[in-house]
Amino acid sequence: MMSETKECLICNNNNYSDNLHCHICKKSICLNCCNKLESRKSVMIADQEIFIKYNCPYCRNENNKHIKLFNKKELLEIYKNNLICYINSYKKNKNYDFNLNILKNYNNTLQNELQRKNEEINRLSETLKHVINTNKNNTVNYEKLLNLYKNCLVQNGYNKKYYQ
Ligand SMILES: [Zn+2]
Ligand SMILES: [Zn+2]
Repeated sequence: MMSETKECLICNNNNYSDNLHCHICKKSICLNCCNKLESRKSVMIADQEIFIKYNCPYCRNENNKHIKLFNKKELLEIYKNNLICYINSYKKNKNYDFNLNILKNYNNTLQNELQRKNEEINRLSETLKHVINTNKNNTVNYEKLLNLYKNCLVQNGYNKKYYQ
């Protein structure tokens, strides 16, 4: 009786497709369950021949079914499923594009920040050089002033040795 009903053993809702019987274990599944399989792919061979590729959920063996095997209703179902896959891939791609743009903007901001930091560091090091030079000049001036002061004291009769 069971074989008469042709019921898909995975979902128990649909009749299995005669075209989706595994070439190894000979068990069949319905197109709906096949479309849900993660391994299911539509593959185009070089000479424009399209195959539905899937791993049998019972024995895990790979099956390649030529598209010509399927009837019109099944082909429509396959077409619809491929279209959904295409739309989903397209959406994902758009999302990737969006994320890529965010990353690009983020990188631009980082680069600008880096450049700003570099300029700031350059400015700071220039300022530091200026401070060091000013200090050097100040020391020289201080030495000069001190010597002038010492000479002045000596000229005014103070003993030179106290100030050396
Ligand atoms: Zn099923
Ligand atoms: Zn199988």
